[in-house]
Amino acid sequence: MPDSPNIDILAIAAHRDDVEQTCGGTLLKMAERGRRTAILDLTQGEMGTRGTAEDRAREAEEAARILKASWRRALDIPDGRVENTYDNRLKVARVIRELRPRVLILPYWQARHPDHATASVLGYEAAFLAGLAKLDLGAPPHRPYKIIYASLYADVRPTFVVDISDQFETRFAALMAYRSQYEDQQPGSGLFPRQTEIHERLAAMAAFYGLLAGVRYAEPFVSKEVGLVDDLLAIPVQSI
Ligand SMILES: [Zn+2]
Repeated sequence: MPDSPNIDILAIAAHRDDVEQTCGGTLLKMAERGRRTAILDLTQGEMGTRGTAEDRAREAEEAARILKASWRRALDIPDGRVENTYDNRLKVARVIRELRPRVLILPYWQARHPDHATASVLGYEAAFLAGLAKLDLGAPPHRPYKIIYASLYADVRPTFVVDISDQFETRFAALMAYRSQYEDQQPGSGLFPRQTEIHERLAAMAAFYGLLAGVRYAEPFVSKEVGLVDDLLAIPVQSI
């Protein structure tokens, strides 16, 4: 991909529509501020109960447009079988070198779905590989400066949250772009909650994380590093 944009933030997730649920509001907010964002889906979604991988490719492209992402691609790792192999790490490392993001967003490392947990470790190890000078991948070495973990579906206290009050509804629209998954329809209707229920649930979660920081809606993240403060008077979030 010779015309790759220089990317500020790359979000990696196991499945198409993961990013829309966990950090889409943050990606949109950054794009609205002129940052260049990218989404790498590790799988193509061929195991989904509804729709085909082709449907999902079209829907993912539409969702990326709604989130104002500059770049999106899906790798060919089998859906439901995301494994942390050297081959897969190289696939992801190539993308990291190609895009050269400063910030990498990964799924939180503990998850109900094994693909999500594996995507976290795989992404981290790929970022490490991508920085190895002697590893020849056809593009110069690069390591993201910062790695943060999107923790919306993890039962863990976030290190920080991003205020997405102004992005929440657009993020919801991006998720609903996956019509084959979320459009109200008869087959499998026991499995897939109606759109209004999904909206209610997403709003409740975003409002919960928003409350922690005194804003309406937010997305939670975990960082392994400590926060660094320069000015005590500029620390956000009121204590009492
Ligand atoms: Zn997923």
